[in-house]
Amino acid sequence: IKKIGVLTSGGDAPGMNAALRAVVRTALGKGLEVYGIRDGYLGLHQNRISKLERFDVSNMINRGGTFLGSARFPEFKEKSVREEAIENLKEHGIEALVVVGGDGSYMGAKALTEMGFPCIGLPGTIDNDITGTDYTIGFHSALNTVLDAIDRLRDTCSSHHRISIVEIMGRYCGDLTIQASIGGGAEFTVIPEKEFDEEELISAISNDVEQGKDHGIIAITEHVTDVNALARRIESRTGLETRATILGHTQRGGAPCAFDRVMASQMGAFAVDLLLKGEGGRCVGIQSNKLVHHDIIESIENMSRPFNQELYDLTKTLS
Ligand code: ADP
Repeated sequence: IKKIGVLTSGGDAPGMNAALRAVVRTALGKGLEVYGIRDGYLGLHQNRISKLERFDVSNMINRGGTFLGSARFPEFKEKSVREEAIENLKEHGIEALVVVGGDGSYMGAKALTEMGFPCIGLPGTIDNDITGTDYTIGFHSALNTVLDAIDRLRDTCSSHHRISIVEIMGRYCGDLTIQASIGGGAEFTVIPEKEFDEEELISAISNDVEQGKDHGIIAITEHVTDVNALARRIESRTGLETRATILGHTQRGGAPCAFDRVMASQMGAFAVDLLLKGEGGRCVGIQSNKLVHHDIIESIENMSRPFNQELYDLTKTLS
C-alpha cells in the first residue's frame, strides 16, 4: 500500500483534527502518501481530493472542528454514487480510506468496504454512540462544555430560585447526559434509554419543592420531549419559575480536551498501522484502556453498545 485517503464526515467533533494530524504524520513517517478529501463523502463524490503534507496539519492539535470540513450527503446511500466515488479514489491511486465520523459515516465506510474498497473507521462524534469503543473522539470535550454550562446555570438558578432544564446532545444515547448529570450535580436525569414518564418526573419535582427545595437542574437528552413545553408544565404545577436551555451546537465546538487529543492521536496512528498490516474494513476503538479494532461490517450489524446501568443509578443516588 502506497497511498491512503482520509476524510471527516457527519457531525463534527473536537479532536477530529488531532486524529487527522496523527493519520497524516504517521503515514508520511512510514513512507505513504496521504490524500485529504474535503467535506466528507460529498467531496469524495465531487473529487475534491488533494495531497496532504506534514505542514498541512501544523497548528491543528488544539483546534476544534475539522479542517477538512464535513457534510451530510444522503446520496451516498446510492450504489451508483459510491461507484463514482471509488472511481475518484482509484484515479488518484488511493488504495484505502480512513473515515473519521459517527455511525452514519460508518455505514458509508461499511458500504465502501463491501464494494471491495477497504476503509478504517475512527469514532468521531460527541454522542458516544458507536459500538466497539468505550469512548468516541469528542465525547469528553463536549462533556466539559456541558459541565461548564451547567455550572453557570446552577449559579443563576440558585440565586433566582428557579428550575433549569438543560437539553443535552447525544442523539439516542444518554451517555453525555448521564455523565454531565453526575459531574454537574443535576437533580433529575432523563435519557432516551429509559422510558420517559412526565407525570412521574413532575410529581418527584413537586415533592422536592414541597420539602423546601427552591431550585434544581434537570438534565435531559435531545429528542426525548419538547423541553420548553415541559418547563411550562413544571412551572404551573410547582409554582417555581422554570426555564429550558437548549445547549445545541455550542456542545460541538471548542478546543478538544486533553483526553480527546491523546486518544485521537493514538487512534489515528493505530489506523495507519492497521492498513500497513493489510487490515482493511476495520473500526478502531478503545476498550478498557486498550486500543482495539473490530470488523466494521460485523460491528455495525451485530454489536451493540452496553448501557451503563450503574452510572445511571448513580445519578439517582447522588441527587
Ligand atoms: P454521523 O456520521 O455523525 O452519524 P450522518 O448520520 O449524517 O452523521 O452520516 C454522515 C454521512 O454518512 C451521510 O450524510 C452519508 O453521506 C453517509 N451515510 C449515512 N448512512 C449511510 C448508508 N446507509 N450508506 C452509505 N452512506 C451513508
